[in-house]
Amino acid sequence: MGLLSGLRSMLGSENRTFHYRCLACDTAFESPNPVMAEVTCPECRATRIRSIAAPEA
Ligand SMILES: [Zn+2]
Repeated sequence: MGLLSGLRSMLGSENRTFHYRCLACDTAFESPNPVMAEVTCPECRATRIRSIAAPEA
């Protein structure tokens, strides 16, 4: 039962963040916005970014 409730809390989290990396300045950052086309780099405002896997830990 503990595992099931743990999964549910993960899936239901409103505070999920998505991890991106800027292709222009190579800055890695997080955004709550899952739509990559709407996300801009916080360092250089570039729109050419790619999504990266969230760090484990
Ligand atoms: Zn950048």
